Amino acid sequence: MVQRLLEPGQIESLDHTSIPRLLLPQARSLFMARAARLRQLANNDIKGIPVAEAMQGYLQLMAAVVDAQAAVAAALPPETFSLPPAADIKLSIDHNMPPLPVNGARPPEWRTVFAALLDHLAASIKDQPQIDAVLAELRALDVAQLEGCADAVLAELTEGVHPLHAPFVAAALQVMWTKRAEQLDSPRVQPLVTNTLCPVCGSHPVASVIRIGGQSQGYRYLQCSCCASEWHMVRVKCSCCEHTSKIAYQSLETNEDKLPVEDAVEDKNAKPNKANDPSKVARAETCDDCKTYRKIFNQEHDFHVEPLADDLASLTLDVLVSEAGYARASGNPLLWFNAA
Ligand SMILES: [Zn+2]
Ligand SMILES: [Zn+2]
Repeated sequence: MVQRLLEPGQIESLDHTSIPRLLLPQARSLFMARAARLRQLANNDIKGIPVAEAMQGYLQLMAAVVDAQAAVAAALPPETFSLPPAADIKLSIDHNMPPLPVNGARPPEWRTVFAALLDHLAASIKDQPQIDAVLAELRALDVAQLEGCADAVLAELTEGVHPLHAPFVAAALQVMWTKRAEQLDSPRVQPLVTNTLCPVCGSHPVASVIRIGGQSQGYRYLQCSCCASEWHMVRVKCSCCEHTSKIAYQSLETNEDKLPVEDAVEDKNAKPNKANDPSKVARAETCDDCKTYRKIFNQEHDFHVEPLADDLASLTLDVLVSEAGYARASGNPLLWFNAA
């Protein structure tokens, strides 16, 4: 009713002040929550995301990797994660370019992060000769090989990086980018021309999450696969091609052919109909225009959803949706394409 009294320009400005467009990460708490979630998933404790036994060991290993990310994020001196000069950041933002782009030159300090990550892992993983062998291989990479791996990981190329090495390289890059992203001034960062890439670093999102609480109530965010920034995108919209007309949702328990009422509106005053419904925790948002999908995790139905961890653990849903003819819109950094 109020909005009818406003001119279009005013509605726009109202919109911009009421929806937090960008949620920047807090590295340490992000990684700690993610590691805890991975362990719960590995233990099959999460209703709505059943995990096959074959996947449980891998999730435990990735939990150890994420523990190491949290430790390294806290332990390394702050100058490891220095931002580019303020003038460069301003120039990028003024031109709707990501201020911390993943393409182009990388701060060489990421290799310090990588070495520290391997040290933490070596200390925490005992009696696992296979993992020790991978860590030894990673340690033996020279600078040129390591930079080549990072290029491949950030460009999501399957060539140029060994599938068993990729998650560890990706983990170091995530620490580097997340620690820098947390220092930015979120109101100043502008959306990119395309809303399907991270406004902070330009990477693809790993998955969507519907947030609850405070000003983000009921809004959908895309979480960056690299820096973990979350940016707003309206619900029922393809996060790959941005079309809206042929969106559908699939979950493991039900094949929904109709759009649920709660997805049809984005109203911060609307109460979710049924909270804590396990079949709504993890769903795939499919698009018949581009034939891709991304998963969407709903905090209304599980308060502790964590996009990257939940995406990694819900491979069963990938199988279901790919059998229906949809391709993943982008990968999960902790699982390389041909590693499974
Ligand atoms: Zn990002
Ligand atoms: Zn699409």
